[in-house]
Amino acid sequence: MKYDIAIVGAGIMGLWTAYTYAKRHPSKTLILFDKYTPPHDLGSSHGESRMFRLANGEGDAISRLGLNAKKQWLAFDKNHPGTFKQTGVAIIGPKIATSSLHDSKEGFVQATQKVAASYNIDHQYLTDPKKQAAKLLPPFNIESDEAIYYEPGGGVVHPEKCMNALIKELKQCDNISLRFNEPAESIDETDPTSVVISTKAKQYRADELVLSMGPWLPKALPEPYKSQIIVTRQVLYWFTIESDYSFDYQNIPAFVCDLGHGKFFYGFPSQDGKTLKIATESNVQTSPETVDRTVSQTEINDMISLFENKLSGIDTKTKPRVKTCLYTSAPNSDFVIGRLPQSKRITLLSACSGHGFKHAPAIAAVVCDRIDGCDSEFSKDFLTLLELKGQVFTSHNWRL
Ligand SMILES: Cc1cc2nc3c(=O)[nH]c(=O)nc-3n(C[C@H](O)[C@H](O)[C@H](O)COP(=O)(O)OP(=O)(O)OC[C@H]3O[C@@H](n4cnc5c(N)ncnc54)[C@H](O)[C@@H]3O)c2cc1C
Repeated sequence: MKYDIAIVGAGIMGLWTAYTYAKRHPSKTLILFDKYTPPHDLGSSHGESRMFRLANGEGDAISRLGLNAKKQWLAFDKNHPGTFKQTGVAIIGPKIATSSLHDSKEGFVQATQKVAASYNIDHQYLTDPKKQAAKLLPPFNIESDEAIYYEPGGGVVHPEKCMNALIKELKQCDNISLRFNEPAESIDETDPTSVVISTKAKQYRADELVLSMGPWLPKALPEPYKSQIIVTRQVLYWFTIESDYSFDYQNIPAFVCDLGHGKFFYGFPSQDGKTLKIATESNVQTSPETVDRTVSQTEINDMISLFENKLSGIDTKTKPRVKTCLYTSAPNSDFVIGRLPQSKRITLLSACSGHGFKHAPAIAAVVCDRIDGCDSEFSKDFLTLLELKGQVFTSHNWRL
């Protein structure tokens, strides 16, 4: 049997792509592989929450993608309640920028506000935040030299809930085969009639193949692409909220706190009322095979020193629950969506760079548009790494 489409990798990108493709082409056949049983905690799509911001200081194309994604998350949440919550998002940072986060060219608060203004995204820019923040962010210690960007339409997507819901949807389609716990070991596109995916068990043929392998993708790529996509180790922390603390951390917006000089942390409304999820970013390069999944006391102390003067009611004496996670990053925080030159049937897909989860529905639509041969609103935007810097190579032995 030959499938119309095969997808390797059932993280959020592979799952949304499968879901979008299946909705568009209910009679076509699809096979989706994963090394493990998703959702799992070994890649990038886990850890309870991902921030959804419409105005992205990373660039305006990303914001257009976000507008499209939000419509889809809201529709999906109607059928699968609890996958997306509109909690609002607050970005706190110096009034006069001292650094740039996520490759924005100016202060993160200011860049975000500019994008929001140009896309008419509902927001508030609070320049007297000490007073104004008392209502919005009571547990935060805000200084008078700080500003706050507040986006009421922002919120939180819940990775495990979303992925379980997508898997449930896919299981209802007769012509979709879910091959979980079945790693794809190699692919061969030398046959002009199909691409062949080999697993330990079997060989499968398909007309189209999407490789959405998250942090496992770079290793499979040929140079010069392999070394342009880097994987870094990140840590998520759930700190205990002091039991007698009067404010309910479940009622805060998701937040980013830019401390200046390149330091920042971000967090989410508490899910259980007892712990607060907080994280920052690290540049330590790694790979899924070699990553250290233990978290040292020094790392915990470093995290505490970032937030302890900013947040009240957090018990820093009790050891937090921790989890490691992997960022897959392309230059300029770009997304990787496209074919390598000379590859006729294989599409590479990685949302990359720590800000892709929220865009998954819109990215999946871009991928399906390209596979279907139609122009997408975003045709020119997100393809930079592989297409603009594309160098010709003649053959590639795809060991995954
Ligand atoms: C700490 C952290 C915080 C983040 N915060 C945000 C945020 O607030 N907002 C936001 O929008 N985004 C955020 N992101 C980014 C977002 O989570 C990622 O962009 C997204 O999860 C990437 O999904 P993926 O499907 O590409 O990769 P993954 O979820 O890693 O999925 C890849 C899948 O491929 C499978 N696979 C690999 N090799 C094979 C093989 N050979 N055969 C079969 N299967 C294979 C793996 O098992 C895995 O399931 C964050 C990421 C991290 C790590």
